[in-house]
This record gives sequence, structure tokens and C-alpha cells, in this order.
Amino acid sequence: MMPMNDVTKQSVINIGTLGHIDHGKTSLVKALTNIWTDKHSESIKRNMTIILGYADAVIRKCENCEGPQAYTITEKCSGCSGPAKSVMRFSIVDAPGHENLMATAIAGANMINAILFVIAANEPCPMQQTKEHLMIINILGIKNVIIVQTKIDIVGKSATLEHYNQIKQFIKGSVIENAPIVPVMANKGINVDVVLELITKLERPKFDTEVEPFMYVIRSFDTNKPGAKVGNLLGGVVGGTLIRGRFGVHDEVEIRPGIGLGSSQKHTSYKSIITQITSISNGTEILEEACPGGLIGLSTELDPSFTKANGLMGNVAGHVGKLPDVMNSVEIAYNTLNRPDIQERGFAEDESVVLIAGTATVIGYVRKAKKNRLSVELNHPICIDKQTKIAVMRNVLHRWRLTGYAVLAS
Ligand code: ZN
Repeated sequence: MMPMNDVTKQSVINIGTLGHIDHGKTSLVKALTNIWTDKHSESIKRNMTIILGYADAVIRKCENCEGPQAYTITEKCSGCSGPAKSVMRFSIVDAPGHENLMATAIAGANMINAILFVIAANEPCPMQQTKEHLMIINILGIKNVIIVQTKIDIVGKSATLEHYNQIKQFIKGSVIENAPIVPVMANKGINVDVVLELITKLERPKFDTEVEPFMYVIRSFDTNKPGAKVGNLLGGVVGGTLIRGRFGVHDEVEIRPGIGLGSSQKHTSYKSIITQITSISNGTEILEEACPGGLIGLSTELDPSFTKANGLMGNVAGHVGKLPDVMNSVEIAYNTLNRPDIQERGFAEDESVVLIAGTATVIGYVRKAKKNRLSVELNHPICIDKQTKIAVMRNVLHRWRLTGYAVLAS
């Protein structure tokens, strides 16, 4: 029998966001979840990791009211002030910047079950970034999309309608041709309930929980206060999203590639970590079991110095000995995105590239390139499975630009 996780305790769907950087994504996420995801301004940090913004909320519904106005994330119905009952928990995944947002959408495709596509009404549609986002949606083949038309208060009614028709024209013939388009005033809360209702109606992913677990580590931290006595130290916490399988309390888990042991000339060698789960949380409540969907925190017996400051981000976690092999180099099949503002040439020998897969970001060097097949030696090892899509960034005029995507070559 398939165990059913509590749909109000663990997210049933991970929703990625796409949209031009100035189109009001963060305010929309705030209106939908009451959380600002825009805490992390710098995108690719010194240690080459993209920090994902994660916002969870529980949608509630009033049983006395009809239509969208019955949907809210507060405990009280906005229509009749009566109590609103929990219906489902969902998660929004966001990444800062334009290049990183697109790279994350590709690299995190395994983690994203639906997309909120934000398009502002105060600019003609499509803008260049918006076009590129539709291209990403087409590549990923995600049909589970809600289009949100933002900033309608700036332009007024007739311009909003005209812009709506531009969007309709723009998505014609794409995988999201029939996606709903909702005009929203995020700051005034107008039509936020409509979006919430649509979220409850999105097709939910069917997670496979009867297989070995595979979790992407999205963050990790040390929950001890500075100066805590050694004997009282709590073990490190590892936060991530399971894409399949489940974890229970007391499970032994392995984290790969693990921790760096020091660098040789070529690359840093790593050792996987094995630890035990001491408790599981959804961020606010204790769970008995972790299933796919949303961000979950695993408290472990790990030395907190390993987990502090996102030290384990980019790793994957599973049961001991059940994860894919760690790779110091990869053979990949590359597909160009043909971005109009990037003139792509063939790969030069020893050209440096950035590969993003799951939550891991690594620098690599192209050692061999034959047609679309690349051999890339990595600065740091990665552990990914065969289904993972890899975002590929190249150095274009001294900036890392997303130029294509790849999968492990078979
Ligand atoms: Zn009501």
C-alpha cells in the first residue's frame, strides 16, 4: 500500500517561478505565501552555488463561501470571517537573477512540478527574457503552468486587456497554449485567491515512494547558539527535497559526494558522509516520515561544523550504498539554446564551463569535444542520476551565460 503523507504537513507540489526579473515575482510569492524569497541577492557565490529561495504555505478553504474568495493562506476567510480549513501545502522555488533562474529551472527540473509564469502588464509582451522563459518551459515540457499578469494597477483596464491578448498570441502553439492567465494586483491582494484556487487544481505529481530515496540537499545549517557546550551540541541539519522514496526517523543516510579532504593538482577529493536521522521537520512541525514534495529538514548526528552555512548544499542524500557513483568527470550530450544574443562557437580545448545539476554547481574543463558530445573534467565531484538535466554555462564576454543544457551521455 502506498503511504499517504498528510497533504497539509508536506507539500504536494513544488512550483517553480519564471518571469522577467523586474516583473514582480517576489511580491507575488510574498502575496501567495507571506514569505519573501528574495533574501539572497548574490546569485553565484564564491563557492559557486546558487541559493534557492524556498517558500511554503498551506492553502485554506472556507466551507461556507463559494468560488475563489473561499481560498486563503490565513486562518480566517476573507469573505465571511469564518474559519478556513487546511486543504494543501505547496512550495514555491525561486532563484535570483535571469541566467541563474533559467539554469536552476533546467538543473532543478526534477524538483519542479509546475510553474508560475509571471508577466508584467506594464511592458509589451513578450520581452526578451519572457521569450527565453517560454523556451525553457517548452524544453522541460511542463504543461502545469499558471500565467500571472502582474502590475495591472499601473496600466489600467483597457491596457491590461490588450496585454492579455498579447500573452494569448505569444503562447499560441506552445505547450502552455491553454494555461490560465490571471491578472493580479499582488500588493493589494486582488485575485491572489484566484491563483490559490488554481494551485489547488494543478495536476499533482505522482511521487514514487516505494523506491530508494533520493534527496537534493538545498541547504544545511548548524542550529546551535554560539558558545553552546560541546556536550549539549545538537547535530547538523540537512534541508532538501526528496524527489522519490522516503526517509524515516533513525534511518542511516549517506550524503554524497560528501566533504572535501583537500586538493590535489587536479581536483579536490571527497569522502561521503554516513549519519543517522534523529528527527524530521517541515520547517514548522515534526514529521514522522519524509516524503517527496517541498523542503524538509533532517536533523542528524553530524558534526554541525559540516552543515553550517550551507556547507552540504549541492550534495545528494540517500540510503547507505544506494546512491549513484560520484563522478570527477562527465561525458555529456550538449544541446544549445540558440540564444539570439549569444554567438556560440564550438568548444575550445580546456575551455572552462559551469555545470549545474540538481543543486550542485561545479566548474569543469572541456577536455574533448566532438559534435555535441563533451568530456568535462570537474573541479569538484558531483553525484547525479541519469535523469538529471544539466544546465551548461559558458564564459561569454567575461560573464557566465546559460548557453545550453545536457544529459549524461549513454
Ligand atoms: Zn467564508
